[in-house]
Formats: sequence, structure tokens, C-alpha cells
Amino acid sequence: MIKPTCCQICESEKIISNAHIVDQSHYSMGIHKAVVYRNPHAMIFKDPIKANTTAYVCGECGHIEFRVNDPQKFYSQVIEARGR
Ligand SMILES: [Zn+2]
Repeated sequence: MIKPTCCQICESEKIISNAHIVDQSHYSMGIHKAVVYRNPHAMIFKDPIKANTTAYVCGECGHIEFRVNDPQKFYSQVIEARGR
């Protein structure tokens, strides 16, 4: 995973790494995930492919960037599911 070294908005180098933007909704495990559905048009059982994310927060302007923790694995799973 390529980690940001400066903010894309203000170019500050005050980057807070490995932050988590916590989802505290009722059934949440608390970690935001990137999700792609294998069966997106299904009424139920959409069969999600999920990847945990990490946030990088600019300590100057507050801009937040997300990164999927294992992008190569996530990409492979999505490509396999789409049959390409
Ligand atoms: Zn910034």
C-alpha cells in the first residue's frame, strides 16, 4: 500500500497515518470497508467482497484519504468475481 506523504489539498506533510473513521451504527463492526457485490442486482444475497480500510488525515486542513489495506487481494477478488 502506498502511503500518502503529503496532503493532496494543502500539500502539508502533517499526515496522521493509520487512523480509523469509525462507523458506530447498530450492527457495524466499527470499521469502514470498501465493498463490491458479486451479485449487485440480487434482491438479497448480494455476496459482498469486502476490504478493510485505513484513513490518513491531514493535520493541517483535515482532508481525509482512505486506502484499502490489501488492494492487490481486493482487486484479484473483484476481477475473479467479474470473470475477467
Ligand atoms: Zn491538508
